[in-house]
Amino acid sequence: MAMFEWQGLKSKLGLRPQTEIRDIGSGPGAKCAKCGEVLMKIDFEANLHVCPFCDHHHVLGAADRARITLDYDSLVPRDNDLAAKDVLDFQGVESYKVKLENSRAKTGTLDAMLSGTGKLKGRDIAFGVTDARFIAGSMGAVVGEMIVRLIDAAIERKLALVVFSGSGGGARMYEGLFSLMQMAKTSAALTRLDDAGLPFISVCTQSTMGGVWASWAALGDVIIAEPKAQIGFTGPRVIKTTINAELPDGFQSAEFLLEHGQIDMIVHRTDMRDRIADLLDKLMGPIT
Ligand SMILES: [Zn+2]
Repeated sequence: MAMFEWQGLKSKLGLRPQTEIRDIGSGPGAKCAKCGEVLMKIDFEANLHVCPFCDHHHVLGAADRARITLDYDSLVPRDNDLAAKDVLDFQGVESYKVKLENSRAKTGTLDAMLSGTGKLKGRDIAFGVTDARFIAGSMGAVVGEMIVRLIDAAIERKLALVVFSGSGGGARMYEGLFSLMQMAKTSAALTRLDDAGLPFISVCTQSTMGGVWASWAALGDVIIAEPKAQIGFTGPRVIKTTINAELPDGFQSAEFLLEHGQIDMIVHRTDMRDRIADLLDKLMGPIT
């Protein structure tokens, strides 16, 4: 797969890159946070942030995901001026206001989503990705609204929709019902996409949980997962305590879900772009 330069998106959006490897001094080496092996940063980049030793798919920020998925510099971002409001004046160990400020500083985006239209191997698509670094990629009013506006854009321009979710946070509870209503809103919008005869490819990455999985992420015409991604509604600890029983091995892993028919395929990150392009050819026909 061709590598794409970071610079295009960075200058366009002011986004910050993402990495989970740990620096070991200022040299070219770093440690994989999963297996602890020392790797070369340049190899890690070239391998799309997948560890060459343990094959762990490290979490990617939204901009990096767009960069490795779309054709170079083709993303035209939309709705990136929408900003969440702390309507409930939510207080906690850390207030919602502080969480928002910290997440914005970390990612460079106003909320947990990057969306727009772009090209994938020459085909125009509507593209969205949640950023796991922004309050665990959770869906509040802004993410829900961005998904719906993206779906409307797909319908208007007759484009296929491709959304990557990495939303371990599910629905963002700091927004209470304003967040929960996004589940119905995004699901209803996907029905309109379906009525328009346009496909939705949902890609679930580490991790896709709660209200995000229980609404749009599970409604893909094709549901893809990255290897070993955790996908589900409630986390295993809570389920275990509630039903007071042991859970099967691999519960909520992409592999477990594939075996039980909840997702359609598991695709390695280095094959993802080719597989989506292939699916789009089948679902939409050749590029005209
Ligand atoms: Zn590793």
